Amino acid sequence: MTAMRRFQQFIDGRFEDADHGFPSLDPATGEAWATMPEAREADVDRAVEAAHRALHQGPWPALSATARGKLLYRLAELVSGNARTLAELETRDTGKIIRETSAQIAYVADYYRYYAGLADKIEGAHLPIDKPDMEVWLRREPIGVVAAIVPWNSQLFLAAVKIGPALAAGCTLVVKASEDGPAPLLEFARLVHEAGFPAGVVNVVTGFGATCGAALTRHPKVAHVAFTGGPAAARQVVRNSAENLASTSLELGGKSPFIVFADADLESAANAQVAGIFAATGQSCVAGSRLIVEASIKDRFLAILKERAERVRIGPPLEMETEVGPLCTARQRELIGEVVAQSVDAGAMLVAGGRAREGAGFFYPPTILDCSAVKAASLERELFGPVLSVLAFETEDEAVRLANDTPFGLASGVFTRDLSRAHRMIRRIRAGIVWVNTYRAVSPIAPFGGYGQSGHGREGGLAAALDFTRTKTVWLRTSDDPIPDPFVMR
Ligand code: NAD
Repeated sequence: MTAMRRFQQFIDGRFEDADHGFPSLDPATGEAWATMPEAREADVDRAVEAAHRALHQGPWPALSATARGKLLYRLAELVSGNARTLAELETRDTGKIIRETSAQIAYVADYYRYYAGLADKIEGAHLPIDKPDMEVWLRREPIGVVAAIVPWNSQLFLAAVKIGPALAAGCTLVVKASEDGPAPLLEFARLVHEAGFPAGVVNVVTGFGATCGAALTRHPKVAHVAFTGGPAAARQVVRNSAENLASTSLELGGKSPFIVFADADLESAANAQVAGIFAATGQSCVAGSRLIVEASIKDRFLAILKERAERVRIGPPLEMETEVGPLCTARQRELIGEVVAQSVDAGAMLVAGGRAREGAGFFYPPTILDCSAVKAASLERELFGPVLSVLAFETEDEAVRLANDTPFGLASGVFTRDLSRAHRMIRRIRAGIVWVNTYRAVSPIAPFGGYGQSGHGREGGLAAALDFTRTKTVWLRTSDDPIPDPFVMR
């Protein structure tokens, strides 16, 4: 038996054990492979105090924006240089396939590079004020200590979209890794250290939502909570942040529509649908989990998808050939099994998959449920797994109605060769992202975020860095004359 690996938390520039720890399971085997430090209230308090000190004292606030950008650039290079270790750790601890984690780490580095370049382009403004003896301008200052909370899928990426813009803006952070699969983020802290960020600028802890997460989000010295996760935890976060009146940005889940018109290139649409629901074993917030397909091509399209779903290579996530690995947790697999069973009981037709694999590990096969004639639970709940629910439509209006028939609104896909129709759909779909004839594409340059219960705030792009700032309005009187009538507001 190999020894369990032990990870440490990173607070105030030091790696340390926490008083408590918990085992992390390898999703491919279901066995514990590492011990994680469990941060509780006292650890969280020290981390926030360190971030608060680093924000106001010492070298960080004195650094120029250009110098902050250089540190971020160094971090990006270190991420690239350590890509293999990070990808392997993420795969080992979350079960996400190595093909995906190795590709994703490349654009994690790109996000840091993007925000490195942006650091000294965050500008204030001079205002054309309506008073001749005044100069008035806006300074953009860091919003304060940021609590960055991430879920278990894509932790390095979801942390990068918060850490990058927050550091570019001059903030300091306490990053809370998920209790499921925190290894890659705890390892990433070593790169923060190596890059030379002053102590306390970035702190990385992990622990459970109800203890570590709650202590962090209601801490009086936290100014902003950047949260990615599910809607239930998000509600708690908002309640907790009422204590400190911190601002929040919420990137939540989705039940994203993937709409295929009869004139679409069906091979291409099928590939995109596979990417949208089976890639990352469906554990993606933008999963295109509701296929809304024109009735005249439904059978043909489902036949292509069924063939693809059954051909997918399910296997150990660390093998490069594997296309679908295990789910991150046993409870996720259980939930998926329950909802699929309920949906079948309600009358949904199983087109592919539908039964958890026997043996070790948290595997669940690519599953397609035809829900055209029923009100299935799989259409309502975000399953965060490789389960596609199918609906059919006759008219464009019906496609729009079905697409918008969800409280979520994160992403959407439209497949058609008709340009005018594509434009109409873009206008009518209520979601933060519309992909036309493509799916699951991201870039640091393009903002990302939801409508409705998919949250608020945007990550990625220039505006994300501005969200980590607040303006200070400065009034400077240029006249040497004494101030006139002090009882009149000027
Ligand atoms: P989760 O909501 O259970 O947990 C997310 C994080 O929040 C974890 O770190 C958890 O410890 C923490 N948390 C839980 N309760 C908390 C509390 N009371 N206070 C503070 N923190 C708390 O989500 P999950 O199951 O880990 O991840 C899946 C969810 O994340 C899905 O709903 C998915 O769609 C969503 N997600 C969204 C995006 C996006 O960008 N929109 C991206 C990835 C995942």
